[in-house]
Amino acid sequence: MRLSRYFLPVLKETPSEAQIASHRLMLRAGMIKQASAGIYSWLPLGWRVLKRVEQIVHEEQQRMGHIPMLMPTIQPADLWQESGRYNAYGPEMLRIRDRHDRDMLFGPTNEEMITDIFRAHVSSYRDLPLTLYHVQWKFRDEVRPRFGVMRGREFLMKDGYNFDLTYEDALHAYNRHLVSYLRTYERMGLQAIPMRAESGPIGGDDTHEFLVLAETGESGVFYDSEITDLRFGDRQIDPDDREGCRAVLEEFTSRYARTDDTHDAAAFEAQVPEERRREARGIEVGQIFYFGTKYSEPMGATVVDPEGNRVPVHMGSHGIGVSRLLGAIIEANHDERGIIWPEGVTPFHVGLVNLKQGDATADTACDQIYAALGQAGLDTLYHDGDDRAGAKFATMDLIGLPWRITVGPRGLEKGVVELTSRRTGESEEMTPEQAVTRLA
Ligand code: ATP
Ligand code: MG
Ligand code: MG
Ligand code: MG
Repeated sequence: MRLSRYFLPVLKETPSEAQIASHRLMLRAGMIKQASAGIYSWLPLGWRVLKRVEQIVHEEQQRMGHIPMLMPTIQPADLWQESGRYNAYGPEMLRIRDRHDRDMLFGPTNEEMITDIFRAHVSSYRDLPLTLYHVQWKFRDEVRPRFGVMRGREFLMKDGYNFDLTYEDALHAYNRHLVSYLRTYERMGLQAIPMRAESGPIGGDDTHEFLVLAETGESGVFYDSEITDLRFGDRQIDPDDREGCRAVLEEFTSRYARTDDTHDAAAFEAQVPEERRREARGIEVGQIFYFGTKYSEPMGATVVDPEGNRVPVHMGSHGIGVSRLLGAIIEANHDERGIIWPEGVTPFHVGLVNLKQGDATADTACDQIYAALGQAGLDTLYHDGDDRAGAKFATMDLIGLPWRITVGPRGLEKGVVELTSRRTGESEEMTPEQAVTRLA
């Protein structure tokens, strides 16, 4: 992409309404524009990152055998009356009336709708286990939308739902989701710690939240510092490997880690030696729930079991805050000059800066490098404007692409360009071919 033909409305001024770094940087880097409190347009650069985050979520869900689909944003109120949540959900639910005076709502979550789909089409234990998921916009009329996409009112969520015959099967689904989530967050360059949590309006017996440590996080967290040494890494775990999934849950959840809702000071002191006790803040980027027959029972989602009895299915639901993740990633990856994208989610792999636009040698070299990067499968943002070098660097640093190739007449005389890492700031001179090979 040539910047001269792109739409990247970067802001020079720091927007006064933004209180935290990620919100400030997303506005300054031209990633989002507020349409109304907690409701954002995703401008081209923001859209690219959102799509990459979403893609990782899809890949990791499908790696574990979870099946993608898409449910609507608008739901009929009847379904929620059946589960009893229509009145219970309160003012966070955006209620809508259509022209025929039917009560509708903009979905804040989809337990009811997926249970309705399930009961319409599944009636035998032979069709289990089943996990369906989608990535869809949600609306929650938050009291205090703030921090940009971190606490929006409209936000993108991956929500998945498992249906199982027995408690043991549902427990495996829970563990399997924990495994997939650990992998998902690490691929985005984040450490998200599973913490025992309260179930809230979803309800249920067992639940963990995934928290990214950050000073600006809205949750207070208490944990054993040993947890931060754990890495999931590149383990390959088969979705049907019950023991393997259970062992991961054990490894990642046996040490003390709780949010302020479930924190128990006495247990903390008893279980964790003083020098390892940490009190900090975190951003909730996901949550997994097991809630048994909470929805299947009232809504009649049953299957015939091997003995011929009709039984309600065991369910769980599992959410990832896709749009919130962009905020969390930036909170964890930025400096005073701007964003520093982890390679896994960067909107472009490399930025190409022409120090002397209009100079025939520099322009030709840039065109060739741009083409070679494209051929190597790398998305490139070519800063082909007339700005001074300093301004071009500032824009590139602000939008945070992991690599920059700088091309100027002086280097070209020696046959070299400069390759710079955004994270370390280190630069190296090399031939254009070497730079392309290094990144490919
Ligand atoms: P929070 O405690 O932050 O209000 P929640 O517990 O109400 O979140 P869940 O129902 O667990 O949210 O939804 C799954 C995920 O969706 C959350 O872990 C979070 O990452 C994301 N999410 C929830 N509410 C918002 C919001 N208002 N804006 C952006 N993302 C959100
Ligand atoms: Mg909430
Ligand atoms: Mg929460
Ligand atoms: Mg939650």
